[in-house]
Amino acid sequence: MKAEIIAVGSELLTPDRLDTNSLFLTEELNKLGIEVLRKTVVGDERDLLAEAFRDALNRVPVVIASGGLGPTEDDLTRETVAELLGRRLLRDEAVVRAIEARFRRLKRDMPAVNLRQAMVPEGAEVLENPRGTAPGLWIEDKDRMVALLPGPPRELKPLFVEQVLPRLQRRVSGVKMFHRELRVTGLGESHVEERIRPIYTRYANVHTTILAAPGEIQIHLRTWTEDATQAGTILDEIVRSFELALGDRIFAHSGVPLEEVVAELLATNRATIATAESCTGGLLAERLTRIPGSSNYFLGGVVCYSNERKTAWAEVPPEMISAKGAVSAEVAVALAEGVRRSLGSTFGVGITGIAGPGGGSEEKPVGTVHIALASATGTRERLVHLPGDREAIRFYATQIALDMVRVHYLYDGKPQPRRVNSGD
Ligand code: AMP
Ligand code: MG
Repeated sequence: MKAEIIAVGSELLTPDRLDTNSLFLTEELNKLGIEVLRKTVVGDERDLLAEAFRDALNRVPVVIASGGLGPTEDDLTRETVAELLGRRLLRDEAVVRAIEARFRRLKRDMPAVNLRQAMVPEGAEVLENPRGTAPGLWIEDKDRMVALLPGPPRELKPLFVEQVLPRLQRRVSGVKMFHRELRVTGLGESHVEERIRPIYTRYANVHTTILAAPGEIQIHLRTWTEDATQAGTILDEIVRSFELALGDRIFAHSGVPLEEVVAELLATNRATIATAESCTGGLLAERLTRIPGSSNYFLGGVVCYSNERKTAWAEVPPEMISAKGAVSAEVAVALAEGVRRSLGSTFGVGITGIAGPGGGSEEKPVGTVHIALASATGTRERLVHLPGDREAIRFYATQIALDMVRVHYLYDGKPQPRRVNSGD
């Protein structure tokens, strides 16, 4: 089955607000096997709104709309859809009572305009909304289904799950969407494409999307079928071929970020980590502590920006800094080993580099970063030349540091393949 989503609200056409409801709705519809063919964002204008609904209902049997159900003059969804479907708007006394009760509970007077929210197109079902005043509406019209939902995400989401989902479930065919996601780091988008294109082009019924995100590439596989077993077999086969083509560059078989993969590895191996960061300013520590339960593996970190702090907090010899420079392999290694020694952790990470935009030289241009990982089996150091602006360089550097921990467990201290610089 196919659906369209209409996001109603003039605020969604300004630079201040984004339509996020449709992301949630698409995910939920996909899980039911309903494919979203189009999304429309439309302002609070009667003619445009009518056109959006008319067009969508001419194309697909399911239309889910969010927004425009408020009490004010600019909330027009209810009226527009009623008129389009040739239905009268009738006052629903049960809804009136529910709105009055809500205001009583909040110890406020109910403004008369709120009665607009009790107007229901003839034949529509009211979807009770305990989290707000505007109820949702479910309208069946010949073979078509329309759900009108309030705009605030905290109201829309539970309303959809509790009331719209069961109604759709009764109507959908057996066709479902099956999805896999792989995440890759250390390879640019075009390199990933080069390696996997010969594979995915062989599968006409599986849709492959390659998305570039900061420091990683996400590969999505989607197929629509009634046959779950067959879908599983085909997707597994493609994933296995991708594994051969991409090797250890795949860090996740689900939509989790790299810090979560590393957290899991550290926790299952009962390992701990400590960080000494210069150019990333604590971003690695931030990413490592983003995950609940991080106290199990993250012992602590220092941001040693100045040379003096590198010496004081991570035991980097001052002679080394003056001889090799603060951005050098030696200093990265000393940072990693120093912080590991002083915190007594399984791993120590050192990062030093030039995030830019200033501070680069011919010998050490902006994007030059040294990253070291110290452990009981020795210290590995990588020199990378990272592309992008300051923010990208800093993020990439933490991504590589995290990946070094992941790769450490893949090879368990044994020799690792030589890596070229990341980026495209
Ligand atoms: P409504 O009064 O039903 O039009 O909804 C208004 C509130 O919901 C505003 O705070 C909007 O910013 C928010 N909202 C409306 N539509 C969306 C949407 N598509 N995605 C996220 N928030 C939305
Ligand atoms: Mg609105």
